[in-house]
Amino acid sequence: MKLLLHTCCAPCSVYCIKSLREEGIEPTLYWYNPNIHPYAEYKARRDCLREYTKLVNVELLEDDAYGLDEFVCNTYDKISTRCQEYCYPKRLRQAFEFAKSEGFDAITTTLLYSIYQKHDFIKDLMTSLSAEYGIEFVYRDFREGWQEGQDEARRIGLYMQKYCGCVFSEEESGIGREIGRKMKKAGISPTNANVRKFIEENKVDGLIRPEKLKSIEIEEA
Ligand code: SF4
Repeated sequence: MKLLLHTCCAPCSVYCIKSLREEGIEPTLYWYNPNIHPYAEYKARRDCLREYTKLVNVELLEDDAYGLDEFVCNTYDKISTRCQEYCYPKRLRQAFEFAKSEGFDAITTTLLYSIYQKHDFIKDLMTSLSAEYGIEFVYRDFREGWQEGQDEARRIGLYMQKYCGCVFSEEESGIGREIGRKMKKAGISPTNANVRKFIEENKVDGLIRPEKLKSIEIEEA
């Protein structure tokens, strides 16, 4: 099987590469992530992946496209649904295009590793793209190796990003940390699940604005 692994970053690739190799599948990694901004962050993730692929001796092919302007033009009017309406389809369709042009017969993505991504949506999208392009989608629930992959990534000192990729997710992540601090002060456990639930409940037009944060009171537990 000649499998292309669309790869969002080095830490997310650790467990995916390991588990595919354990199955006897040698993946070729494919970098195409024009959703990562600003450029310093894009470069940090891309360069880390370059180093990591050398370390574990896996082939990396790149479509090195930094796409801030295109991303903003395509998402400014759909911020709350940007992942499903633009970001995932943009990246994954390109991965299928690339797989087809380079003669790969199977494909999957490290997006299926992250516990923070919209797993079921990605799975369905990959399934329909697979039918459209006639390329096998190798579905795996890589989330089962989440902790193992994170531990290994930290052990070997990979660059660990603090947000998903776009500027909107950077804002949400920063605000999430602030909410976590408020929760702790109020005696509420600032788990990822608690913080995310709080953010979802307090979003306005898909975003939780910094100015809104000031007015948020977290009741004591
Ligand atoms: S939050 Fe992540 S998946 Fe969603 S649009 Fe931003 S970079 Fe893409």
